[in-house]
Amino acid sequence: MKILVINCGSSSLKYQVIDMVTKNAIGKGLVERIGLSGSVLTHRTGSGEKEVIQAEIPNHTIAIKLVLEALVSPEYGAIKDLKEIYGIGHRVVHGGEKFSKSVLIDDEVMVALKECVELAPLHNPPNIAGIIACQKMMPGVPQVAVFDTAFHQTMQPNSYIYGLPYEFYKKYGIRKYGFHGTSHKYVSQRAAVLLQKPLGDLKLISCHLGNGASICAIRGGKSIETSMGFTPLDGLMMGTRSGQLDPAIVTYIMCRENFTVDQMNDFLNTKCGALGVSGVSSDFRDIEVAAGQGNVRARLALDIFEHDVRQFIGSYAAVLGGVDGIIFTAGVGENSASMREAICKNLEYIGVDLDREKNKVRSEEVDVSKPDARCRVLVIPTNEELMIALETQDLI
Ligand code: ADP
Repeated sequence: MKILVINCGSSSLKYQVIDMVTKNAIGKGLVERIGLSGSVLTHRTGSGEKEVIQAEIPNHTIAIKLVLEALVSPEYGAIKDLKEIYGIGHRVVHGGEKFSKSVLIDDEVMVALKECVELAPLHNPPNIAGIIACQKMMPGVPQVAVFDTAFHQTMQPNSYIYGLPYEFYKKYGIRKYGFHGTSHKYVSQRAAVLLQKPLGDLKLISCHLGNGASICAIRGGKSIETSMGFTPLDGLMMGTRSGQLDPAIVTYIMCRENFTVDQMNDFLNTKCGALGVSGVSSDFRDIEVAAGQGNVRARLALDIFEHDVRQFIGSYAAVLGGVDGIIFTAGVGENSASMREAICKNLEYIGVDLDREKNKVRSEEVDVSKPDARCRVLVIPTNEELMIALETQDLI
C-alpha cells in the first residue's frame, strides 16, 4: 500500500510516496517556481539519486501531472503504475475551528476549506489548488486533508482566547490556533514509544525548532498550550519572524517607518527574528559559525533564542504541573547539540540532567539524559510526511 503526500505552497510543491509497509519514502521531490519563469522539478529516488526536470509549469495541475509522470518513470520512478497509489494526504495549514482532526475530502469539506482561507490567505489557497489538481489528475483516489492546526483544538478557552473584546473572537475568529500540530503529534507519539510508557500518562513539552519554531505542552497526548497563536508569527523568535512582541511596537514602527499594513506584515515575517538581530543570516548554522568567530550580534541572536525556549519550557512546566520529557525536533532541535545543551542549562529544578556525551547526536531518535534524570530529554527527528500518510491510511 502506497500513499502520496502533497504539501503545496504558492509557487512550490513538495511530495513523497510512502510505502506503508516499510514506512519509507520510495520517491520524493520538489517542484519550484510554479507559475514563474524557470520552473523545475527535482525528483529523488528512494536511494537518493537526483533527477532534475525543467519544464514550463504554469499552475499546480501541470505540477501534479509532472510529479505523477516522474513517479511512474521507467528510469527513476517510484512505482510501476499510478493504481498503486491508494490515497493522497494533503498538508493543509489552517483548519480553523472546523477541523479538530484530519478528514476525508468531499464537496462539503471543500466548502469548509474555502471558508478557512480568510484565516490563512497565503497558505490555504495553494493547499486547495493542490487538492483540486489531484482530484483532476487522479479521479476516484481518496484524498485526505491533514491540518497544522487540528492537534491544538484540544486547548481550552483560557489558553486560546486573547485579552480582546470577546466579539472579535466571534466576529473574526481571532483566537490562538497554534501550528506545527502534525509535528508535535508525531514526536509526542514517538516519545511514548521511546520512554516505553502510555502516551495517556505522559506530560511532555515538544520543542519544534526549525526555521519556524514552536513549543507545545502535551498532556496525555493532547495539546493544552502552544506558542504560535492566531498566526505562525507568535511565540519564539524564529529565523526571520519576530515572535512575541509588545503589541504597541507594531503601531510604533509603522508610524516611525511609514510602513503600510502589507509592509509591516512583510517586515515582521521576513526581516526580523535571528536574521534581524544577527544581521548575518536566518540560518542557525551560519549564525553559529559567525558567533564562533566572535560576532557579537550573532551570539546575541543565539542567546535570545536559547533564553526564549527556556522561558517557554518553564512556563509550560507550570501549566502541565510537572514534565516527564522534553522533546527536541526540527532542523535546530534535531541537529544542534550546542543549542540543546544551552537550553537545558538551569532546568535541573524540573529534573533535567543532560548527558553531554549522549547529546552529541544528530537526527537520531535518542534519550540524551543521564540514567536517573526525572525529566527525560529526547531528540526525535520529526516526520510530518509520515504522520500525514498514517492519518490518510487511517481514514481510507
Ligand atoms: P523549516 O522546515 O521550518 O524550514 P527546518 O526544520 O528544516 O526548518 O530547520 C531549518 C533550520 O535548522 C535552519 O536554520 C538550519 O540552520 C538549522 N539547522 C540545520 N542543521 C543544523 C545544525 N547542524 N546546527 C544548527 N542548526 C542547524
